[in-house]
Amino acid sequence: MLLNLSVLKDNPGGTIPFEVVLDLHELAFGGCCPATEPVTAVGEVRNTAGVYVMRGTVRTTLHGPCDRCARDVDKPVEFPLHAVLTAELAGEDGEEDPWTFLLEEGCADLDDIVTTTFVLSMDSKFLCKEDCKGLCCRCGKDLNDGPCGCRPETDPRLAVLQQLLKK
Ligand SMILES: [Zn+2]
Ligand SMILES: [Zn+2]
Repeated sequence: MLLNLSVLKDNPGGTIPFEVVLDLHELAFGGCCPATEPVTAVGEVRNTAGVYVMRGTVRTTLHGPCDRCARDVDKPVEFPLHAVLTAELAGEDGEEDPWTFLLEEGCADLDDIVTTTFVLSMDSKFLCKEDCKGLCCRCGKDLNDGPCGCRPETDPRLAVLQQLLKK
């Protein structure tokens, strides 16, 4: 969806509200596509001394298996959206700010901005909870339900030491 910002041009301090709903279910993160529900973004664009500043919130509920324990997770998420919209990219050093977006004929490409915000805000790991203990690598038990019966591995350095002491 394109948001026409031309009315902001001669209106310092003016704002334009926006609301967009995107389908991002094809976006894959670590082999799964957790954005099975619509992704909504609401906010406004403000003309701040000639600079168009976009602020808002991106919300959805993610679904997928936890990266550590493989449990199915429903995870409501909320990401802040804060972008600067500009008619031309300044900076000749080629350093691109991911939060700066080009206007196209006075319009902001909401789909592009919201998708970028979503991708950059996603955690690299998809976990059921921050401190998920995961599965035991030996018996496969879900360690969130309590410890398993496996003995802890002996530190290989300790084993060497024991060998030496025996002699
Ligand atoms: Zn988990
Ligand atoms: Zn175990």
